[in-house]
Amino acid sequence: MTTIDREALRRKYREERDKRVRPEGKDQYVEPKGRFSHLLDDPYTPRVERDPVHDEVTVAVIGGGFGGVCTGAQLKIAGVDDVRIIEGGGDVGGAWYWNRYPGAMCDTAAMIYLPMLEETGYRPTMKYVPAIEIFEHVRRIAKQYGLYDNALFSTEVTELVWDDTVARWIIRTNRGDEFRARFVAMGTGPLHRPKLPGIPGIETFAGPSFHTARWDYGITGGGPEEPMVHLAEQRVGIIGTGATAVQCIPPLGRDAKELFVFQRTPSSIDVRANHEIDPEWFATLEPGWQHEWLINFATLQTGGFADEDLVKDGWTDIAQRIRDRVIADIASATPDRPFDVDAFQRAYEESDDEKMTEIRARVDAIVEDPETADALKPWYRQLCKRPCFHDEYLQAYNRPNVHLVDTDGRGVDRIDETGVWVGDDHYELDLLIFASGFEVGTEYSRRSGYETVGRDGITLTERWANGAETLHGIHAHGFPNLFVIAISQAANLISNITSNLVDSGRTIAAVVRHAVDVDADEVEVTEAAEHAWVRMLEDNPRSFGGDPTCTPGYYNNEGHAIGRKERLGGSGYPEGPVAYFAYIDRWRTAGAFEGLEFRSR
Ligand code: NDP
Repeated sequence: MTTIDREALRRKYREERDKRVRPEGKDQYVEPKGRFSHLLDDPYTPRVERDPVHDEVTVAVIGGGFGGVCTGAQLKIAGVDDVRIIEGGGDVGGAWYWNRYPGAMCDTAAMIYLPMLEETGYRPTMKYVPAIEIFEHVRRIAKQYGLYDNALFSTEVTELVWDDTVARWIIRTNRGDEFRARFVAMGTGPLHRPKLPGIPGIETFAGPSFHTARWDYGITGGGPEEPMVHLAEQRVGIIGTGATAVQCIPPLGRDAKELFVFQRTPSSIDVRANHEIDPEWFATLEPGWQHEWLINFATLQTGGFADEDLVKDGWTDIAQRIRDRVIADIASATPDRPFDVDAFQRAYEESDDEKMTEIRARVDAIVEDPETADALKPWYRQLCKRPCFHDEYLQAYNRPNVHLVDTDGRGVDRIDETGVWVGDDHYELDLLIFASGFEVGTEYSRRSGYETVGRDGITLTERWANGAETLHGIHAHGFPNLFVIAISQAANLISNITSNLVDSGRTIAAVVRHAVDVDADEVEVTEAAEHAWVRMLEDNPRSFGGDPTCTPGYYNNEGHAIGRKERLGGSGYPEGPVAYFAYIDRWRTAGAFEGLEFRSR
């Protein structure tokens, strides 16, 4: 067993972090505008002209990703039939509609990532399934619950305004629609709007370029599952080595003549070990299995105890190590050396050091060139960045045509007409791909693309200028009949986000059902209830996990101070997701909907 020099490791982590913190913080990224405005277009579905819509619906759901579709399904299950999805893409799917890059898949296990498996009777093909299968599953739910019937696709909401005289939301779109909705659910997602690195000269690159969330197979040839034949004679550059790049670099390496990977911070790459799901075994699962799996996964992942690890993956592995250490500590406690609360922190640090040492050793075991292997080693705690799980990524660097261009934390220096500069080296490229991620922590209206104007003309941007304030992440005072399909200020479970979305949809459906039953024109959170919820989140250090001492990234405001806005934007129920799910289930089923006011005129 390797002994770890913890002090040296901490020093190395600090040094590596410090050289990556940039004074501009999240302003180092730019919106795809001007020369890059086409990067937000839909390359997959041609826009079909249609007449504008002027009518009224009971519930408008903005966004057709898992959030919108699962909320729509929950509304239908609750007997609320008149639901309209409005979606910018040409189909439902959200992230799984837009992200069609080669190698796209989800490295959270399908048994707990794909929602509503029992309701749809669907069996995932593999432990981790490709994007195409996930996209199909969103479509499956939408079809089963009749959500295509009234949907508006290739349609962007441009404004959402509360009309107090009629107690309705007025929705305007870029297709000239102007219609009313009694209730609105917003599911525009947290990682929705592609961002670009603000590298000097980025707009001067003369060759083709695109963002991974708008993969242009017209340029590369092939498809998500087919070789990109146009790349055979091309020098391709990719900027970024996050979770997306890790998945598309192996197929790019396979198909491009030369591939240059511009790296600022390496990702941690753990084992994936994908395998097929045995139909016979799947058939033996008892009704209610998915809920059991979801709770088991959330419990283990957040440090709880369970007899069995049903999912057994990289997310639960670290938690298992921490638990084993804590148990050993309890067992070995003596009156002279009693079990103390620091044991948890110690167990966490030791487990993480052990895990990351293994991850770095794995790089050495796989990558043949020692210099490349060194540059691919992550020097931070595993949960500082999105952990990645892959069995072909590191191997791609053993190909002679794949070149890692490590920038030692600095990033690409500049871009010109013909390629990319790192220090004094110029890399001439035929195609430049941005795997630079999505906006996090910018204004809600900027990310969603529309402004929400509530009672008395107050916008959500104004209301949330000092941080989002809600009850359960869903309800905002001053915005009656409006629901955010919530992640933060609720369960805030980051590894299988769909759990958050389905649960939030269930809550929204219960509230709408009740409002319809009691014939309420308005349902709104009271100021007091909202305030109490926000205070509870703010006063508890456990409600926010972002760590400014981590290597910079969107998890921790790019390593900058974490103010009230960031804390509120990333906070969750202090007792963790499992406790939140139990709490909200009681709240939902009690029938009182404490904190909400149902008003009839
Ligand atoms: P990320 O934001 O995680 O990654 C962006 C990448 O761009 C980083 O490697 C970043 O480096 C790099 N970068 C930014 N600016 C520069 C620069 N100037 N020069 C060089 N490199 C630069 O985006 P992703 O699209 O990879 O992932 C976003 C999220 O999407 C993930 O965190 C995950 O939640 C989700 N996802 C989930 C998947 C799944 O399997 N479930 C698969 C793919 C994505 P640095 O790290 O230094 O900031």
